[in-house]
Amino acid sequence: MVQDERIAVVGAGLIGLCSAWYLARSGASVTVVDRGVVGGETSSGNTGWVVPALSAPVAAPGSVRQGTQMLFHRDNPFRIKPRPSPSLARWLAAFIRSARPDRFKAGAEAILALNEHTLELFDQLREDGVSFEMHQGGIVFLCLSPGAADAAEQRFAALGYSGEIERLDGTQARQLEPSVGPAVRGALHIKPERVVRPETLTRGLHQALLTRGVEVLEHTPVRQLRRDGAGWILTAGTREIRCHKVIVAAGIWSLQLCRQLGIRIDMQPGKGYSLTTDGEGARPRHALFFVEAMVGAAPYEGTVRLAGMLELAGMDPRPHERRIGLLRSAARAYLRGWDPGEQGEPWAGLRPLPPDGLPIIGEIPGRPGAYLATGHGMVGLTLAPASGALLARTILDGGAPDKLAPFSPARF
Ligand SMILES: Cc1cc2nc3c(=O)[nH]c(=O)nc-3n(C[C@H](O)[C@H](O)[C@H](O)COP(=O)(O)OP(=O)(O)OC[C@H]3O[C@@H](n4cnc5c(N)ncnc54)[C@H](O)[C@@H]3O)c2cc1C
Repeated sequence: MVQDERIAVVGAGLIGLCSAWYLARSGASVTVVDRGVVGGETSSGNTGWVVPALSAPVAAPGSVRQGTQMLFHRDNPFRIKPRPSPSLARWLAAFIRSARPDRFKAGAEAILALNEHTLELFDQLREDGVSFEMHQGGIVFLCLSPGAADAAEQRFAALGYSGEIERLDGTQARQLEPSVGPAVRGALHIKPERVVRPETLTRGLHQALLTRGVEVLEHTPVRQLRRDGAGWILTAGTREIRCHKVIVAAGIWSLQLCRQLGIRIDMQPGKGYSLTTDGEGARPRHALFFVEAMVGAAPYEGTVRLAGMLELAGMDPRPHERRIGLLRSAARAYLRGWDPGEQGEPWAGLRPLPPDGLPIIGEIPGRPGAYLATGHGMVGLTLAPASGALLARTILDGGAPDKLAPFSPARF
């Protein structure tokens, strides 16, 4: 790295914050710029699961058939809002191609490799003084039929996931987790996985960046990126920021900045919902996944977050009450002793979703010194430390680690 190089990071979600963290930790001068507040978008109300076991691409063999059975029904967890959209049609065609067994297998292996040190990286963040809420104890998949538990078990085996998974019947599931209701007939306890409260992680990273002398500019939208000799100028709010290198980590809104740079990448906003509620009764102790309903539950200090759904419905950020109601009904179908109640904080967020389910990380072809870090889709919290650490190494040392090759922006 050239001495005194300044690196700008556009976007203060988990991906931008982690990228900035690993750069600053290596001594780089960093400015983070967000059009809103730190962690104010998709990185705030998500479930917070740290799940290497669940990081495989959504475009999987069988997902197209399963998806088409569900997609257009308004109460299904997967939904496409029917509308004439050439970009959606293009994305769906690429999704179908990516679901081929060979492509899925290659993608799943690449993400498993990216996740190789994920759990250690979360521990290391804490050792480095980043303060956030994290729970161990694994994630328990709850199934209303033993067949669903068989299918989930087979999927993990096919993925080559090597973490410890224990198969349970309904009674054993209730012994492990007293909030599990009588309708549950089978379960899988995926032991190594963890839960982080995402808002505490973005807050902790923000604090840690400030402590390291990183400049963090909020309410400063970046409107333009242009080359300036060997570096870049960002038109951001009312000011111009000069930097040697720039990372675009603006979540789904990276699309607009890429268009402005004259390059094409492919992503759709994958809308998801959550409800954070104290509820009534004894709160679950474990993170739970209601398999048939495709809804997750994350127990945090003093409250519970229910989350799920994947809608391709354009850039609509509103948390529709009907969909929030589905989160409540899912919890009621699987649990007893704890009820989500009628109160709580509804939320919706837009996941940046490339059709092949692989994040987009690396230098932008033809734009030296400009990097992309987006497209982390369903598992951006899980992948944020690994992505940030490898991208920082790429930027500071030059060259790209082999692990990042499958995620190159050049694939579009
Ligand atoms: C319901 C739900 C549940 C989820 N659960 C999990 C989970 O359990 N585990 C997991 O690993 N992942 C989960 N995810 C996925 C995860 O939340 C996302 O992958 C991740 O938050 C994406 O982070 P990001 O930094 O790319 O984007 P964002 O958090 O959206 O950050 C992008 C930032 O860029 C800023 N920005 C945009 N445009 C500009 C501009 N022009 N100038 C300046 N700033 C700009 C925005 O203001 C924003 O702060 C879930 C997502 C949803 C919706």
